[in-house]
Amino acid sequence: MPRKVDFLVIGSGIAGLTFATKAKTHGEVLILTKKNKADSNTNYAQGGIASVFGDDDSFARHIADTEKAGEGLSHPDAVKIMVTSGPPLVQELYELGCRFSTDEGSAFELGKEGGHTRRRIVHAKDFTGYEIERVLLESAKKSGIVISENEIALDLIVKDNECLGIYYLDAITKKIDTIYADATVLATGGAGQVYLHTTNPPIATGDGIAMAYRAGADIANMEFVQFHPTSVYNLQIEGRSFLISEAVRGEGGILKTRDGAPFMDKYSPSGNLAPRDIVARACVSEMLRTKSKYVLLDISHREADFIKNRFPTIYETCLKWGIDITRESIPVVPAAHYTCGGIRVNTWAESSVPRLFALGECACTGVHGANRLASNSLLEALVFAARAAERLKTTKTLTASKILKHDMPGKTGPNFTLQVKELMDQHVNVIRTQKGLEHAREVIQGLEDQFEDGIHLINAESRNIVNVARLIIESALRRKESRGLHYITEYAEKDSTLGKDTIINTNIVSN
Ligand SMILES: Cc1cc2nc3c(=O)[nH]c(=O)nc-3n(C[C@H](O)[C@H](O)[C@H](O)COP(=O)(O)OP(=O)(O)OC[C@H]3O[C@@H](n4cnc5c(N)ncnc54)[C@H](O)[C@@H]3O)c2cc1C
Repeated sequence: MPRKVDFLVIGSGIAGLTFATKAKTHGEVLILTKKNKADSNTNYAQGGIASVFGDDDSFARHIADTEKAGEGLSHPDAVKIMVTSGPPLVQELYELGCRFSTDEGSAFELGKEGGHTRRRIVHAKDFTGYEIERVLLESAKKSGIVISENEIALDLIVKDNECLGIYYLDAITKKIDTIYADATVLATGGAGQVYLHTTNPPIATGDGIAMAYRAGADIANMEFVQFHPTSVYNLQIEGRSFLISEAVRGEGGILKTRDGAPFMDKYSPSGNLAPRDIVARACVSEMLRTKSKYVLLDISHREADFIKNRFPTIYETCLKWGIDITRESIPVVPAAHYTCGGIRVNTWAESSVPRLFALGECACTGVHGANRLASNSLLEALVFAARAAERLKTTKTLTASKILKHDMPGKTGPNFTLQVKELMDQHVNVIRTQKGLEHAREVIQGLEDQFEDGIHLINAESRNIVNVARLIIESALRRKESRGLHYITEYAEKDSTLGKDTIINTNIVSN
């Protein structure tokens, strides 16, 4: 008989681990993760986790800031749930042992980031994600949750319009195997690796989104890719561009052109703390105007001790590359950073396919709308993972007759990853054009046609990257306006009649 568990979780970032530690009390949980346990976007989050703790803050303010960033597409019910459920869950992480920075008393030291009207970013200096990942992994271990490393989920098993589990690559036998589950929970993170320049680590190939798409689930709002305005120019570390957290601008960092002229006041009354889409577009516009491949970020006017203490990772990493940020500016460029769209879910993290849940960055809860407010993503992952676990206190068990051994020969597909990344960087970037998007669609269609149907064993990630690129391009072409993170020169204004999510699915109900 094939293996069967109650809850099968794919991914060991904040979303998968939070869900697992909470669902453990009412069922057997198994986590599969494609590399090492800690290989995740979570591990690299620097700035922090937004939550209402400040005396001058309120839920209403956090909700208003989130919805303002979302440019009319945030779902109010999801935003309200995220904001109001956040503080106890963040406090829980602290009590589990997350070393969040505190003021002299015991209150959290709250950071400020673009788009937030109050200080509300709970952080562990500039290595918040590392702390969260460390503590959640320890907690999972203590609870006896099995995390199976180096196991790659390849595709979902869908029968009679219901998700029954997954096909995955068994690291030992190198063959495709199956695991059945009462609920399959995708927590596979984002898809930054669809682009050449990205802050995301190599695991972020959009696998969950591509698998759910192939299985017929609704995928929403993929045109809204957040580009972080400030990644270090021309330097990569383990397959990702190194991010200079927005918190650097929160603490006084100023964007300048190569000849030292500050420029953000030209683009927004909020200056250097304008929302990320505005800052990213401003950087690209200034790069084009000054014919430069980068702009500069300068924090050197703050005291050296403050910089070293507040941003130890950024300080040390830049220094290794010969940039002393206490004395000189950092050359920066925008890089793909966060996937706002994803597998469409309701406020209990249920997708449109029964028994399939999606959490964290691979999901689209509707919270971010057309633009994610900084540091809301860790919060979103935490809150909706806890809610999915709550929902799954009552699940119907799969009937035994559905659990069948499948022998699935794995297919070998081509590797188009680099080609897709170059295409996306060139034509589906911060500033888009109709012609560029149409060209990208034509190229991607040609690549997609070269993958056979069925489960892919070799170059599975490349196929996922092609599928996700297709979803981004298709969604971008459907949105005939500029809103939030999606900017297209032919439709440069927001159109108030188009304030709806972009939803795409394959309508395949069985594989
Ligand atoms: C550099 C950087 C800085 C950031 N800073 C912040 C910040 O300050 N605040 C904030 O709120 N957000 C921040 N973000 C975003 C935030 O970190 C992510 O949105 C969040 O961590 C996503 O969590 P997740 O659990 O959904 O996915 P991840 O943490 O990415 O975890 C995904 C997991 O799925 C596994 N996986 C993927 N595909 C498969 C497969 N096919 N089979 C098996 N396993 C698979 C991966 O190995 C990994 O374990 C940042 C992101 C980056 C890259």
